[in-house]
Order: sequence, then structure tokens, then C-alpha cells
Amino acid sequence: MGRKETRKIVHIKYIKIMAKKTTSKTKASKSILNSKSLDFLRAYLNNASPTGFESEGQKLWLDYIKPYTDDYFTDNYGTAVAVINPKADFKVVIEAHADEISWFVHYITNDGFIYLRRNGGSDHMIAPSKRVNIHTEKGIVKAVFGWPAIHVRDASKEEPPSLKNIFLDCGCSTKKEIEELGIHVGCVITYEDEFMVLNDRYYVGRALDNRVGGFMIAEVARLIKESKTKLPFGLYITNSVQEEVGLRGAEMITHTIKPNVAIITDVCHDTQSPMMNKIASGDLACGKGPVLTYGPAVQNNLLKLIIAAAVNKKIPFQRSAVSRATGTDTDAFAYSIGGVPSALISLPLRYMHTTVESVHKEDVENVIKLIFETLKSIKNNHDFKYNKK
Ligand SMILES: [Zn+2]
Repeated sequence: MGRKETRKIVHIKYIKIMAKKTTSKTKASKSILNSKSLDFLRAYLNNASPTGFESEGQKLWLDYIKPYTDDYFTDNYGTAVAVINPKADFKVVIEAHADEISWFVHYITNDGFIYLRRNGGSDHMIAPSKRVNIHTEKGIVKAVFGWPAIHVRDASKEEPPSLKNIFLDCGCSTKKEIEELGIHVGCVITYEDEFMVLNDRYYVGRALDNRVGGFMIAEVARLIKESKTKLPFGLYITNSVQEEVGLRGAEMITHTIKPNVAIITDVCHDTQSPMMNKIASGDLACGKGPVLTYGPAVQNNLLKLIIAAAVNKKIPFQRSAVSRATGTDTDAFAYSIGGVPSALISLPLRYMHTTVESVHKEDVENVIKLIFETLKSIKNNHDFKYNKK
């Protein structure tokens, strides 16, 4: 046996040992999600919930969360709130946003094409050749984003997709035919793309931003119920509308609830995939745990409580910093009704506002665990002030 072979065998043995270790580790960390919760996640993501038109999604969400909560209400614009201990004076919010980015029909041409406006930060770059659903009173009408063939384009002056040139084709040749299908200016458009699991590791789909957040806060309610945890305060599990157009739903509902504390969950950018810039966006990775944000809108004593919960329960987490606002519903809660102690627990996500948004399964579970464990450490009338009397 030559030296080289010996080395090879040693190497193979090492790999086997490592493989064993990995298997036992996987067994130890049992998933907190069950088949019912995953069925809900799939149905919830596959249903469209465009900004301003979230009611179908909110219905699915309320149906799922009702058995785990004591009461619920909705507001005039569609934000849904499920409540545990509705009679308690001290109110804690856990929040996500229910809406997904979409498009509006803006201009129908006489020869049967449709130009669009954004509803939220929809990405013109990814539009060409996508299949879409146009939501009409008569139901869904199918259409495609057309694009001139590579053969007929002038390679020396390729025009990138923009709102000026992307258009929908729904198989009609006149404006009248389009109108007969039930399509009019103001109809909302979403992509067809649905939920899938990638390599048993990533949840992938359209608009995980931020309906995966709605899923996670609903799972927190389930854990509270199933573990028979008694919270010493009222818990307001809030699924806000209209985040994608400027935190509007959260702005509205914070005045209705008047919470004492708010913990918000939303997605943030993973920066490990090609063309991401760590100097501009920080070093954040899918699979390395929830992201905790430092910034003026985040109340530091609440943040400390979240970090303590993570450390105590050995939940991995990452840190991120923002110079001003967080750009999430956290800001709406923080800067309302005299200042509500607020913090943000983010889920790292790849390819935001595309149809293949991806999040790591373990991060989803760890966000759920971290919110759950943090809630258990909040006391009734918890005082988060920096300088106490
Ligand atoms: Zn978004």
C-alpha cells in the first residue's frame, strides 16, 4: 500500500465520521413545524395578496390562526389582528406584513397590449417572459410579459426592460376584446410562480416577502397554545396590509391597538449570492439565523431582551445596522403614539422582489423560536425606559 492510498483511506474514514456526526446532529434538532403548518404555508403563499387587495390572504391567515387565539378583529383597510388575552391592559404586538408587490393595469392600447404601473417595488428587470394573473371581477385572466426576440434586437444597443417598454399580451387584438375579458385600468396583476422547496433546504417562491412573516407569527401563536404557555399580557398578532407602499397598514393599526411593545418581523437581504455587495449591504447569510437590527428606531432594552433570549436558548443570530429608519413596519410602530418600544427580527432572504425569493428553512424555525422565547421573557407592565425614576 503506497503512501498516497493510505492518505486516501484516512480521508475516506474522516468523511464517514463527519457524515455520522452530521446525521446525529440533524436528528437532534427536530423541526418545530408540522405537516399542517407546512400545508398552510404553501396555500398562503400560493394565494395572491397584492398591496391594497389582501383580503383573501387575510382570510386564509385568520382561518389558520383562530384555533390558537382567543379573539380577532380587522380594520377598515384589511389589517388582521388575532389576540391572546384580549382583556389585558398591557399589550404586546408581534407583527408581519400581509401584502405582496404587484402591478396595476395602467394603459390599454387600441391594438390590444397593456402597459403597467407598479403597486409596491415591482422589478421591471425580471418581467419579460413571465406569465401573470390579471385579477378581474370575472376572475383570473392569464397574460404574458412579451419581449422582442434576440434575433431581431440590435445587439449594439440593447434596451433594458423598464416601465416604458414592458407590456402584457393577453391574446387580444383590440382594446375592446381586452375589456370584454373584464380587464380595466386599475386591475391588479401578480406572477403565477408558486411555492417550492429547493434541496430540502430553502423555501422558494413569489412574495415570501413578507408572507413568510405572517406564517411565522401564526406559528408563534400555535406554539403558545400547544405548550400551554400563559402570557401575563395581551398578545396582538398583527398581519398588516400595505407595507410595500410605505408601512401604511402598520401606521393605521398602531393607533387602533395602542401597544406597549412591538416586535416586528420582515425579510432582509442575504449578501452571499453573486453581485451582492457586503460593503454596501453588510455580511448576512441565509442559514446563519435571524438578523437583529441596530438603529435609532429600535429600542435598545427590548433588543437586549431579544439577544438574551437568543443566547439563553442557543438560537443563532446575526447583527445588522441601519443609519436611520429600518425601512420596515418597525418604524411605523416606533414613531407612533408617543413612541412604542419596538424591535426588528429579520429573516435573511435571497433575490428580494423576484419570483424566486428564497429563505432557509432553519432560519424560519429560528425566527419563530426567537419570537416565542422573547415573549416568555416580557413581564406584565415591562418598563423598557433607559432612565427610570
Ligand atoms: Zn418587500
